[in-house]
Amino acid sequence: MQSHPTAAYAAELDRRDPLATFRSRFTFTDPDLIYMDGNSLGRLPKGTSERLSQVIEQEWGRQLIRSWGAGWIDAPLRVGEKIGRLIGAAPGQVVVSDSTTVNLYKLAMAALMLRPGRTKIVTDQPNFPTDLYVLQGCNHLLGGGYRIELLPAAPDAITVELQTVLDAIDQETALVSLSHVHFKSGYLYDAAAITERCHAHGALVLWDLSHAAGAAPVELDAWDADFAAGCSYKYLNGGPGAPAFLYVNCRLHQTALSPIWGWFGDRAPFAFDLEYHPAEGIKRFIAGTPPVLSTLAIEPGVDLLLEAGLDRLRAKSIALTSYMIELYDAILAPLGFALGSPRDPAHRGSHISIRHADGYRINRALIEEMNVIPDFREPDNIRLGLAPIYTSFLDVWEAVERIRRVVVEEQYLGYSSQRLAVT
Ligand SMILES: *Cc1c(COP(=O)(O)O)cnc(C)c1O
Repeated sequence: MQSHPTAAYAAELDRRDPLATFRSRFTFTDPDLIYMDGNSLGRLPKGTSERLSQVIEQEWGRQLIRSWGAGWIDAPLRVGEKIGRLIGAAPGQVVVSDSTTVNLYKLAMAALMLRPGRTKIVTDQPNFPTDLYVLQGCNHLLGGGYRIELLPAAPDAITVELQTVLDAIDQETALVSLSHVHFKSGYLYDAAAITERCHAHGALVLWDLSHAAGAAPVELDAWDADFAAGCSYKYLNGGPGAPAFLYVNCRLHQTALSPIWGWFGDRAPFAFDLEYHPAEGIKRFIAGTPPVLSTLAIEPGVDLLLEAGLDRLRAKSIALTSYMIELYDAILAPLGFALGSPRDPAHRGSHISIRHADGYRINRALIEEMNVIPDFREPDNIRLGLAPIYTSFLDVWEAVERIRRVVVEEQYLGYSSQRLAVT
């Protein structure tokens, strides 16, 4: 492959980028800052600042409780439906509620209740720990009779062989719960093949889309997935702690039940009936009063992604990550880094992990001295998140150049390996 280690080439890629103008729709307060953490906390859309001050001053401040009937009560479904368009879900199957962790719990319990008698749950070692804890907690609550099969990563520590997953799914399997994109390596599963295998054996599947939604090709309806959940503060740019989304395939709307029977999931919350009757459709997966401010804060960011279009976002994501790998090969590999992400773009999400024995200290030096913000994931991964809607090719070039300087000039030697509370 031809290598292009010049800033001029990055600038040329930016000039050719059809999504380049979307950058100006986000808040940039420090032009020198290279932000590589949009996969953990997306940037602030300018429209969100405007929308939130309107919601606070007009809708809350002036209209008070009347606003419930003027857009608040429908927000979880309305915003859910928009997110649905980013993840291949027809209307009526996605709702915004709670956190990803809580949604995973609600959906895993719903799935296990639908498959009584089966005793196996399949997941994988590279999964995000909260996803594993939720499964362990469900098993604990249900008497401990499940076996949770934790599939290992391949020897490259980056991927999990598709065949390993397919072979693990059998007639005993109640639930397969996986992240579509792995949080450390960015490895992207063939979700269609895995979903198909689940159904061939009567198992249900739950996809965690936290690192996929808004940046990778998700087609829940086309895959015929059963359940999905994910974060809206990552590539969806919904803001810190924004409520998550969940998806239940309409096939299951008559039978799947949330384990949390709350009044907002009742068919008539304001009848104040003494007995619970689950609402028709996806609404039954709402528990209580929705967090209105943070739900409405998600909407402008999702609107921007819809305007940009998923095909263009995916194409740019692949271009950005491919360019990062090209620069890695030319500049960082000779400095002792190893690539921690797949080279095949068909199996890669929108971040690149680079591994180094001194990764933690290099990451500290980047943040403290170089005005670059990646993040660090144990034991040695520096994660570089490339959000296609606002990350530029010059950002990628500049990030690699500053990483090179930190290593060549040994700036990281001044930092301790002692971990801070948030990495
Ligand atoms: C970010 C992330 C989470 C976080 O869950 P919260 O409930 O929002 O803390 C869960 N799962 C995956 C795969 C993630 O990437």
